[in-house]
Amino acid sequence: MKNNDKYESVIGLEVHTQLQTNSKLFCGDSASFGAAPNTNISPITLAHPGTLPVMNYLAIEYAIKLGLALNCRIEQHNFFARKNYFYPDLPKGYQVSQHTTPICKNGFVPIRINNTERNILLNRIHLEEDAGKSLHDVDKNYTSIDLNRAGVPLLEIVTEPDLHSADEAYAYLTQIRRLVRWLNICDGNMEEGSMRCDANISIRLKGEKKLGTRVEVKNLNSIRNVKRAIDFEINRLINLVEAGEKIVQETRSFDAENGTTFSLRTKEDADDYRYFPDPDLSPFFISDDKLQQIKSNLPMLPQDLEKKYITSYNLSGYDAAVICDDKEQAAFFEKIIEHTNNYKAAANWMLGPIKNYLNEAQTSINECAFTPQGIASIIQLIDDGKINFSIASSKIFAALISDPNKTPLQIATELNVIQESDTGSINIWVEEVIKKMPDKVKEYQSGKKGLIGLFAGEVKKLSKGKADMQLVNKFLEEKLQIK
Ligand code: ADP
Ligand code: MG
Repeated sequence: MKNNDKYESVIGLEVHTQLQTNSKLFCGDSASFGAAPNTNISPITLAHPGTLPVMNYLAIEYAIKLGLALNCRIEQHNFFARKNYFYPDLPKGYQVSQHTTPICKNGFVPIRINNTERNILLNRIHLEEDAGKSLHDVDKNYTSIDLNRAGVPLLEIVTEPDLHSADEAYAYLTQIRRLVRWLNICDGNMEEGSMRCDANISIRLKGEKKLGTRVEVKNLNSIRNVKRAIDFEINRLINLVEAGEKIVQETRSFDAENGTTFSLRTKEDADDYRYFPDPDLSPFFISDDKLQQIKSNLPMLPQDLEKKYITSYNLSGYDAAVICDDKEQAAFFEKIIEHTNNYKAAANWMLGPIKNYLNEAQTSINECAFTPQGIASIIQLIDDGKINFSIASSKIFAALISDPNKTPLQIATELNVIQESDTGSINIWVEEVIKKMPDKVKEYQSGKKGLIGLFAGEVKKLSKGKADMQLVNKFLEEKLQIK
C-alpha cells in the first residue's frame, strides 16, 4: 500500500483579513496601506497613558456581513478582551481581541472541486486589532518598527479541522478571497498582507477519529504557497511517522524559494495570555433590527450565483466560476440573461470576446459603453441565423464598442454582413461548388470526410462571406452523400 493511501491529512486554516475601513478599530487614525512609516499613529495607537479607545462600528458591521454570508450564528452580546503579551510592535502590551466570545460562530464555506460541492465547517470569525510591523531589512544593525498597522481592524476566520488536502485549502482560500472582495470588506491581497493565512496540519491513520499532533505553518503570502506548504508538510509528516519518529507540536515557516518549511519554535498548548474583558471598552449589543438591516442589504452572493448558473442554467463549473470571479462581471452577465435565454451563449460572450477586450483595453466592465442589451441582441441575431459568431465577435462587437448607440442589427446592415439564409441561393452555391470539384467529391465519398471544410470554404467565397454556414454545412452533408 502506498503511504498516502494509509494516512488521512487533516487541515485547519486561520485566515486574517484586514478590514477596509477608513479608520482603525479603536481610533481615527487612517487604516490605509502604504503610507510612510509611522505617519498614522496618534497617541491612542501609541498607547500613551490616559488615552481611551472608541469603537469603530463599521468594523462590527463588516464582521456581521461576512458572518451572515457564511451561514454563521451571530452573537448579539459582545465584548472585547485583552490578550496580554509583550512585543516591540505592540505598544499597549496587549492585543484587543474577542478571545472566547467571537461575534460569529460555526457556519460553513461551500467549496467546489471538479464539480463536487462540499461545505467546510467554520469554528468562528472574530474581530481583533492588528499589531505593528517589525522591519528587519531597513537597517543592517537594527530592527525598525512601523506602527501604522497597529490597531487596524482584523477579522480572523477559523475553520474546524475539516479540510483534507492542499487542493481543498486552495479552493477554500479562493472562495474566502472572492467573498471578502465581493462584500467590499477587504481587498484580499495576500502579497501586501491584507489577507494572511496560517495552516495547521496533522495526519492520522485512515479511520482513526483522534486528531494527530499538528504543526502550524506561517508566512504564507499567496494561495499557491499555502498549497505548496501543505503538500510539503503532509509528505514530511508521513515520512516522519513511517520512520518511527514522533511529531512535535511546533510552528514552522515556509520558504517559498525552495518550497520547504523549517521550524521556528515548538509550541505548547498552555495559554498564558491572562485574558480579561477590556475595562475601557463597553460591551456592545447587536439588535435584531440591526441584524435584519444588514441581512437585507447583502448582495446576491457569489457562491449562490455560481450554484444557480450550474444547476439552473446548465453552465459548466468552469464557466460559472469565471463569471462569478468578479462582482461587476457577474452583474453584467445577470443583465444579459434578462434579455436572452441562451445562457450558454451569454457565458461564451463573457468568457470570450468581452473578457479578451477587457484584457486588451486594460479596462473594467463598468467603464465600457456597450450594454448587456447590446450583447443580448447580438446573441439573438446569431440565433436567428442573421450573422455568424465569427463576424459578430470580430466586426459587430468592435463596432458596438465604439458606437454603443447603434443596435447590432443596424451595424450588421451597415457592414453588409447579414447572412444569406435563403435556402434557394444556398442550394445553388452548394451545387455549383460540388460540380466544380468532382475529384474532391470522390475523395470525400471514399472516406476523407475532412474535405467538407474545403467545400464549405468555397461556398463561403462564392457567397462573399454571407452564406449562413450552418445551413451550408447541412446542405453539403446531404448532397455529398449522393453518388
Ligand atoms: P491556536 O489559536 O492556538 O493556533 P486553535 O485551537 O484555535 O489554536 O486552532 C487553530 C486552528 O488549528 C483551527 O483551524 C483548528 O481547526 C486547527 N487545528 C487544531 N488542531 C488540529 C489538528 N490536530 N490538526 C489539524 N488542524 C488542527
Ligand atoms: Mg494559531
